[in-house]
Amino acid sequence: MHFDNEISISSLLNFSRNAFQTSIKIFIIGILFVMTSISANQNNINSSEKTVVIMLGPPGSGKGTQAVKLTREVGIPHISTGDLFRENIANGTELGKQAKTYMDAGKLVPDQLVLDMLFDRISRVDCANGFLLDGSPRTVPQAEALDNKIEGKAKLIVINLSASDALIEKRIEGRRTCKSCAEIFNIYFSPPKIQGQCDRCQGELYQRPDDSAAVVQERLRVYNAQTKPLISHYTDKGVLVTIDGESPPETVYQHLIKVYKKQG
Ligand SMILES: [Zn+2]
Repeated sequence: MHFDNEISISSLLNFSRNAFQTSIKIFIIGILFVMTSISANQNNINSSEKTVVIMLGPPGSGKGTQAVKLTREVGIPHISTGDLFRENIANGTELGKQAKTYMDAGKLVPDQLVLDMLFDRISRVDCANGFLLDGSPRTVPQAEALDNKIEGKAKLIVINLSASDALIEKRIEGRRTCKSCAEIFNIYFSPPKIQGQCDRCQGELYQRPDDSAAVVQERLRVYNAQTKPLISHYTDKGVLVTIDGESPPETVYQHLIKVYKKQG
């Protein structure tokens, strides 16, 4: 009985030593597996299959709608700078907290902070085959930093959705929104049957403060000042394609998808 006990204790010790060694082996294999997947993933990101689309276009050019349609069809993420800011702030990330300090003070969020948020977003796995940027880069330093980041790793297509200031002003300043059901009309292009009254619910139509002529003119001024240098920057790199944003939305989209498929 005493003898038996000794055997079982020593075999138990042996067993646990073996189990320990086996777990170490499994752990090392696990680490190797993770490292291999990470490097495979990086190879994937470096592949020439990847296409990055940058959408430039004034407010009211229909850029956002076209971006949503394209990214859904070709299966790449649509990264809007506005959404990125909101997401970081809502999730209380360190970058979001910093951005909020600037925004609350009515200051522009510095280039580096915008880039940190953007680079964090495009390093995620859903961006491995490409992505579309809507709202950034906004300045030449941002564009240069992005160029360095993707140079040799992705094809770049920059779409300039053009529309005259006069048309943009009509599109935005002409907007009337229903107070009851939020239906949108345009007094120049899609007026309600009865002036000032919603066709759907007879609610009262009003002009949102954001759509006022003064606000639109200021947004256009800022856009034109910021974007012109970007247009020259990307023209010099030979990656800019201008699409007439004054065409009907379906025509714009056909042009856009053709550009994407040819170059992408
Ligand atoms: Zn209504």
